[in-house]
Amino acid sequence: MTGLNDKVAFVTGAARGIGRAIAETLALDGADLVLCDLKSEWLTETGAAVEGAGRKALCVAADVSDGEAVGRVVDEALAAMGRIDVLVNNAGITRDGLLIRMSDDDWDTVLDVNLKGAFLFTRAAARPMMKQRSGAIVNIASIIGLIGNAGQCNYSASKGGLVALTKSSARELAPRNIRVNAVAPGFIESKMTEVLSEDVRQRMLDAIPMKRFGSPLDVARVVRFLAGDAASYMTGQVLTVSGGMVM
Ligand code: NAD
Repeated sequence: MTGLNDKVAFVTGAARGIGRAIAETLALDGADLVLCDLKSEWLTETGAAVEGAGRKALCVAADVSDGEAVGRVVDEALAAMGRIDVLVNNAGITRDGLLIRMSDDDWDTVLDVNLKGAFLFTRAAARPMMKQRSGAIVNIASIIGLIGNAGQCNYSASKGGLVALTKSSARELAPRNIRVNAVAPGFIESKMTEVLSEDVRQRMLDAIPMKRFGSPLDVARVVRFLAGDAASYMTGQVLTVSGGMVM
């Protein structure tokens, strides 16, 4: 129904959280999965869930900010699966701190993983997609990239940059029938957010019109929409999934 049956989808940061939910959701729609994370053994559970849905799972290890590793795993995926139809740039990290105290390393590391990682994968996957004359890329941005947040200059810059990368690559790749869109989640329950204090969580909840945090599945369903045929005439778009926090 979504047109994802027998397609090959590549998801970064697929070991847990939002990435895992995306991989499982796409598998339920009939896609085979290439699962990527820092260590391949972290992908065992996601891989088992994909296979439990009756689809193939190839687990590959790469740091998304390492160009050589990205080239290697994309080649590995093409050798094993023959094609890449969907790329989801999901891997991301935070290293929060106030601007005046932020180290160069905290700035560089967050920009390297969240923004350069998506660039490296988009460049590597665009080649086979251009040959196929089809493809869908979904970047996982954040509402923080749209509205900013005190204590997250590095993270918001990386996600704002990802929105800009989404739009420029969408313009460049559209003539080859490759669509590039982004999802900007709000506050989603995951390992990334469970470290926040009760006080911060309550303040966030107060600011969410729907009065609940999102689940990884809330994000995964929108990724499925953007990756599939229902979004066949959409490119360069950013869909916010935030319970109304950003309108
Ligand atoms: P998470 O920390 O639970 O999962 C992130 C995954 O990415 C992990 O499996 C981690 O090992 C992997 N990863 C991290 N650095 C990597 C690297 N260099 N190379 C390869 N893999 C790497 O986080 P999550 O909440 O599931 O977040 C997923 C994405 O959603 C991120 O891009 C995040 O910025 C974005 N996001 C999350 C929220 C939220 O509230 N949780 C909100 C907005 C956006």
